[in-house]
Parts: sequence; structure tokens; C-alpha cells
Amino acid sequence: ENESSVSITVVGASGDLAKKKIFPALFALYYEDCLPKHFTVYGYARSKMTDAELRNMVSKTLTCRIDKRENCGEKMEEFLKRCFYHSGQYDSEKNFAELDKKLKEHEAGRVSNRLFYLSIPPNIFIDAVKCASLSASSGSGWTRVIVEKPFGRDSKSSAALTKSLKQYLEEDQIFRIDHYLGKELVENLSVLRFSNLIFEPLWSRQYIRNVQLIFSEDFGTEGRGGYFDNYGIIRDIMQNHLLQILALFAMETPVSLDAEDIRNEKVKVLRSMRPLQLEDVVIGQYKSHTKGGFTYPAYTDDKTVPKGSLTPTFAAAALFINNARWDGVPFLMKAGKALHTKRAEIRVQFRHVPGNLYNRNFGTDLDRATNELVIRVQPDEAIYLKINNKVPGLGMRLDRSNLNLHYAARYSKEIPDAYERLLLDAIEGERRLFIRSDELDAAWSLFTPLLKELEEKKIIPEYYPHGSRGPVGAHYLAARYNVRWGDVGLEQ
Ligand code: NAP
Repeated sequence: ENESSVSITVVGASGDLAKKKIFPALFALYYEDCLPKHFTVYGYARSKMTDAELRNMVSKTLTCRIDKRENCGEKMEEFLKRCFYHSGQYDSEKNFAELDKKLKEHEAGRVSNRLFYLSIPPNIFIDAVKCASLSASSGSGWTRVIVEKPFGRDSKSSAALTKSLKQYLEEDQIFRIDHYLGKELVENLSVLRFSNLIFEPLWSRQYIRNVQLIFSEDFGTEGRGGYFDNYGIIRDIMQNHLLQILALFAMETPVSLDAEDIRNEKVKVLRSMRPLQLEDVVIGQYKSHTKGGFTYPAYTDDKTVPKGSLTPTFAAAALFINNARWDGVPFLMKAGKALHTKRAEIRVQFRHVPGNLYNRNFGTDLDRATNELVIRVQPDEAIYLKINNKVPGLGMRLDRSNLNLHYAARYSKEIPDAYERLLLDAIEGERRLFIRSDELDAAWSLFTPLLKELEEKKIIPEYYPHGSRGPVGAHYLAARYNVRWGDVGLEQ
């Protein structure tokens, strides 16, 4: 192993994602001693830059873990010395051949493994894959390519993208990244469920009344609406991040923790679901709102958004899995921008206790007595379970309390960024957290008919004030399935 090397090429190194996430994640891996001994990082983009200029750009974004400050500056210097830059076009085999030559110099005759991270707009994915594959793939080791979303915008374009990728790559070389799968609490879902006796037996229609997958951002597009407007919140968040979490949540026990076993189970869940119906979806768009003398802009006030755009910035949907475990259980998704809070969470509401001896203590509102398991993915990671408890004292008063696993209190460690986990997995060839082609196809099949209908019928979104809780329609939708959104009370 010592004799092999890894060359990591960040294609689109001058861009936002590279600066914000990829270089910092690579540095964190270096600092944690997770990168192989012989590694080189290359930035590739059209912008003209010297190695020194790239290092300068990258150095501004590197940070150290709060609990590991010692030697940080030194480590940064060492890391930056391993970073280089090559300027080239994305569709030039010649430019990629030049990169290949430089990579070879660093690899110095060792077995060379190569990872390309495509951090570029989707319209140039294929050009870059073609050139990397034809002119810069490894002759002696593996070549892998990390691809960022969007993976198409419907079934057809996604299938076309996959087909083009497969002209140059085998399935096992393609690493489709969904960074939600790299989040600590999403990874922990399977641990929680399969390694604790008390959860798995309850994990079905018999005890679970509904499951909610909630994503909210407390800011709008802020001048970056150009990309977003072509996709909308359903494609940007639901079809990928929330659906992936749903599949992991609902899958049957996999044969093992191997990537193919897990992905086989996930794809089964997706294929057991019925495509979304228009009546099971509510869409919204934020409008301007004045509060405390400050006016928050509407989505269409963003200069990069076309006037009169109907693109949803909010959506709520009810989904169903037609299998024995989940028959009839609503899986409710809600995702939105410019809402009153910023968070991502999974909420599991359990059934009422049959013949509950204490029913009278809850008055007429039995929902108040429902056990709820909340997995807060971000921010301030936590897992808590709402239980009914007797308020200490001579009377018999019940109270809802939390059994609370608050990560910041329990673990003093800083939680690694999702990109660190995923980059490390890609280097190690661990595919568990990446999306396989058939999973992607199944995911698009669920959403494509709905997206088409919304666009063809030009369905008008329900307008909600910037910074609010989103459209009221989301509550009516939930109510139709006897569900109350769990996040309205905003308890911890
Ligand atoms: P970006 O900054 O817009 O683009 C990355 C680089 O690509 C740019 O620095 C530019 O480099 C080159 N580029 C941009 N537009 C181009 C064009 N029309 N033709 C040729 N080259 C062009 O993108 P990003 O925000 O870093 O995102 C990269 C990828 O990650 C995208 O696929 C995006 O959808 C995905 N993604 C981004 C985020 C995020 O937080 N930003 C999150 C999730 C996924 P040169 O001009 O130097 O060649």
C-alpha cells in the first residue's frame, strides 16, 4: 500500500464549492492522518493561476478543529505544499494530457490511483469526464470520478447523463455524491435502528403513525437564483436529499453493511413507492415581507430569477410505500427556503397507546400523548424521544419530556463535515453512501410525472412571507392524513 499514490484532481477548483467544501475537507482528512502517504492535490479550471496563487486561495478557507489547534499552522503549510494547479479547458484532451504528465511526475512510478472531483456546472460534466477518462486516467491503479448534483432534471435527462457517463466510465467508477448521506446523523440512522433492540421492533405501520422529513433554510436565493430557478426546491432537496433519507429510514434489514447490500434495499423501497400525485403536493414561493423596518425580498426580487417565475421555493408532499411494512403510513416531506428557521430533521410519530389508562390526563387532544422520536440532522445534532412522564409531586399530573441525546453535550468532538466522510469513502472505494444508477432512476420515476404536470399546468405556488412558517396549504395537506407537523411548536 505504501507504494501506491493517490492524485486528487478538483475540476472546477476556482469555484464556490471547491473553496467552501472540497479543499477544507481534504485538509481536514490530511490533519486527521486519513490521506494515504503519497498523495497530491491538483486544482484544474480555466482560470489562470499559479500554484502559489491556488495555495493562497485555498489557505484562506482552511480551518482547524476546535479541539485540535496544536500544530495547525504547520499542518496547513505541509498540506498546501502538496497542492498544485493546472489551467485548462474542460473539453480539451490535450489540456488533460498535460495534467496527466504532471500527475505522473508526482506519482514517481508508484501505482497511481486517481480521483477526479467534478465541481463544475452540469452542462460540462460529460466533456470533463470524457477528457479525464481518455487522457488522464490511471494506467496502473483505479480511476474514480465524483459527480455533484444535479443528476439531470427529470428521468429522461438523468438517463441521458448516465448513458454518457457510462461511455467513459464503469458503474463502479462513478461516485454520485449526495452530501446528506455523509451527515453524521443520517449515517447513524442504521446504527440506531439495527443495533438497539428497542427501535427495530417498532419500525413499521404497526407502531408508526407517520414519518416526517423536514428541511428548512432561513434565507432565500440571495443573488444565486439563476441555478436554482431551473430546478426548484423539489429537485434541489426532495428528489435527492430527503428521498435518500427516506429510503435509508424505511429499508428492510440489509444482508450486510456492504454497499451493494444496502443499495439493493434502498432501491427496493424506492421501487415500492407510488409516483407522487399532484393532489398530494403543495408548492409555495416566498414573497417580500417587512419586519422591524427591514424589508426581506421576494424570490422574484432576486435579479438572477426571471420575472414572474413560478418555480417553487417551498414544497410539502405526502408519499407512500406500498409494502407490507409501510402500507398506509404517510411519509411527509417539507422543504423550503426563506422560512423562519434553519434545520433538517426526521420526526417519527408513534401511534396512540391503545386503551391508555391515562387518557383523561391529556384532555381531548390525544396527539399530545404521542411518542415522537426526533433525529435532528442539523444544526445542533440531537436525537430525542418524547415520552409521557409524571410530574413529581403528590398529584397525578403528566408531562411530556424528552429523553435527550444532545451531541454537543455528550460528545466533545467536533463533527466532521459530510464532505470529509464522502471524500474519504471515495478514496477508500467505499460506495455505501453514493447513489447507484438504478437508485437514481427509481428516484426520478417518482418525481418526474409530478414535475411535468406542475410545469405544464403552470401551477401557481402559494405565496408565503419571507421568514414565515411557509404556506398554510402544508397544514391542510398533513391534516388530510391526520398528521400534525411536529416542528410547529419549535420545542428543542
Ligand atoms: P461554480 O462556482 O459556478 O463553478 C465552478 C467552476 O466551473 C467555476 O469556478 C468556473 O471555473 C467553471 N465554470 C463555471 N461556469 C462555467 C461555464 N458555463 N462553462 C465552463 N466552466 C464554467 O459552481 P460551484 O458552486 O462550485 O458548484 C460546482 C458543482 O457542485 C455544480 O455542479 C453544483 O451544482 C454542485 N453543487 C454546489 C454546491 C455549492 O454549495 N456551491 C452544493 C451542492 C452541489 P473556470 O472559469 O476557472 O473554469
